[in-house]
Amino acid sequence: MSERDIFDLTGRTALVTGASQGLGERFAQVLAGRGAAVCLAARQTDKLAKLQKKIEKAGGRAHAVSLDVTDPEAVERSVRQAEEALGPLDILVNNAGVAVTQSFTELAIDEWDKVLDTNLRGAFVVAQAAAKHMAQRGSGSIINIESVLGYTTMKGLSAYCASKGGLSQLTRVMAAELARAGVRVNGIAPGYIETDINRAFFATDAGEKLRKSIPMRRTGAPSELDGVLLLLASDASAYMTGSTITVDGGFLVR
Ligand code: NAD
Repeated sequence: MSERDIFDLTGRTALVTGASQGLGERFAQVLAGRGAAVCLAARQTDKLAKLQKKIEKAGGRAHAVSLDVTDPEAVERSVRQAEEALGPLDILVNNAGVAVTQSFTELAIDEWDKVLDTNLRGAFVVAQAAAKHMAQRGSGSIINIESVLGYTTMKGLSAYCASKGGLSQLTRVMAAELARAGVRVNGIAPGYIETDINRAFFATDAGEKLRKSIPMRRTGAPSELDGVLLLLASDASAYMTGSTITVDGGFLVR
């Protein structure tokens, strides 16, 4: 049996949106750790500079670009800058996202817009920009960071659930359209992974109640997405497209 690393990403270039913290920060480090040159994209460039240094210190290659996914011109620019700095894009991790908790009847239109503009329109704009470049070259892997809340409901999160439900459909339609061009599109649907997006909530009684409702009776750690990320980013998933993998401690089957 050969010792070939099936998750090897040497020579590949990746773009991770929302890489300044949380899951995106982790995804960037994991991809760089397997040899990918990683373009770190987010609005908070000071945090990105620190992450770039960390990756380089560990022997990896990274480049930071300022990106607001709600701004289509900035998206075009950052995809171009990523390719100029690191080479043609092979992997996109469409990760930037926000959540707003508010009852449906009280939810302001601008809050709705913020969530949909970031999680769904933003993901579409970034994926379209990357897919055009990938399709021209006939290969690429796009990974949409969806959520279990695209598949089930949670009171107070109507905009978030709608955005992630839309994103899960987008994953499948993109996969169908881009397969012939050699571009694979898959999703990861995390359950509750403790990050800044939900840390304050999990410190409350309601958060503890939710934690206990997860069949594994705990939240996940960002590192518990490493395996699925590497599977979808690498040739190990060469025959996979249009799939979303749930990583949720059993939440969806509770
Ligand atoms: P987080 O709040 O720690 O990180 C979100 C990232 O997105 C940040 O880097 C933020 O700067 C970036 N971002 C937000 N708006 C942006 C914009 N307009 N342009 C560019 N970047 C922007 O949250 P997280 O938990 O790391 O979430 C990452 C992704 O994973 C999100 O899409 C989220 O919906 C999804 N997700 C998270 C969980 C979880 O339990 N943590 C579960 C399911 C899905």
